[in-house]
Amino acid sequence: MSLMPTYAPADVVFAEGHGTVLYDTEGRSYLDFLSGIAVTSLGHSNPAVAAALSSQAARLWHVSNLFENELAGRLASELDELIGGGRPLGGGVFLANSGAEANECALKLARKAGGRGRHHVLSAYGSFHGRTLATLHATGQPHKHEAFQPLPEGFAHVAFGDLEALAAAADATKVAAVLLEPIQGEGGVIPAPPGYLEGVRALCDERGILLIVDEIQTGLGRTGDWFAFQAAGVLPDIVTVAKSLGNGMPIGACWARADVASLFEPGDHGSTFGGQPLACSAALATLGELRRLDAPSLARKAGSVLSEGLAGIDAISEVRGRGLLLGAVLDSGRAGGRSAAEVATAALRAGLVLNAPSADVLRLAPPLTVSVEEVDQAVSILSEVLA
Ligand SMILES: *Cc1c(COP(=O)(O)O)cnc(C)c1O
Repeated sequence: MSLMPTYAPADVVFAEGHGTVLYDTEGRSYLDFLSGIAVTSLGHSNPAVAAALSSQAARLWHVSNLFENELAGRLASELDELIGGGRPLGGGVFLANSGAEANECALKLARKAGGRGRHHVLSAYGSFHGRTLATLHATGQPHKHEAFQPLPEGFAHVAFGDLEALAAAADATKVAAVLLEPIQGEGGVIPAPPGYLEGVRALCDERGILLIVDEIQTGLGRTGDWFAFQAAGVLPDIVTVAKSLGNGMPIGACWARADVASLFEPGDHGSTFGGQPLACSAALATLGELRRLDAPSLARKAGSVLSEGLAGIDAISEVRGRGLLLGAVLDSGRAGGRSAAEVATAALRAGLVLNAPSADVLRLAPPLTVSVEEVDQAVSILSEVLA
């Protein structure tokens, strides 16, 4: 053993990727309809991001956050404007290296806002917010908690989409924040029911509770809007972003509205690597390309072709999600009694990369730049695998 056994071994090793296509060490090609879990939204080895990275790599990589770097400030302003739907909001951004770290920042801000005693955070069953001890406790999957108890206290969970359950649990004398994904990605691609986010926003306003929306998987165009909360017409107090932000370069961000962001004082939070020039150069190039291509419209167009194609496969009983974050629910009878994980393995052998976030759900999250031909090809591979 050299790597710790935190992931089940897979039987392919990828060596190269361009756009939607991956090549393994034997030279076989695959259509990548997972994008490294909704990360490579511009496809593999995107030329614009690669050029920005290599030019930055020849100039300056890292100076620590004891010194300002101009790229971090620009990235923060761009995120602020995207979160505002094109209008700068004047919020603050903390740059981190991953999704879990972006959420850690959000949780620490919530504790600063609420104060000791009023430090509780409510999140939803079925959610996923990361693997650090605090974000693990925020993750609403109790079986994942067992081995690691005691976890940091102050977390509780309610049924996703159930506004009454949230209202009953949201005791404003104890609860600082509500933390939600607009579409539960790891939970099996489960969208919040219509009206839910609007209801949560109103409840949080009424009780003075912060609304943190985890857009780590859904953000930056994937669901057909820049951010999934925008489809509900609400604005969270805190938004976290990561996965696709660097198109594969590790970087995460926590945005907060100005009065919340300014609760942090020097020394409250930090990161050695967060926001370093190399990662920021990748993120700025990624945002530039996503904007140039109008990422949300790409996701909407390719997403409707993909979801129609999937819905036409006999063994798929339901297609859910939005844009290019789709879950295909298997009809166990018509799928020959196979689990989604077994189907994903068979698809991989047939040259299509996807995964199974839950027992009967396949997740499809191709690059937003996927072509209609590639979508058709993927649907026909999956349909053969499921025949
Ligand atoms: C992936 C993910 C995270 C964790 O991100 P890491 O970069 O793996 O730490 C948190 N929240 C959501 C919704 C995610 O999809």
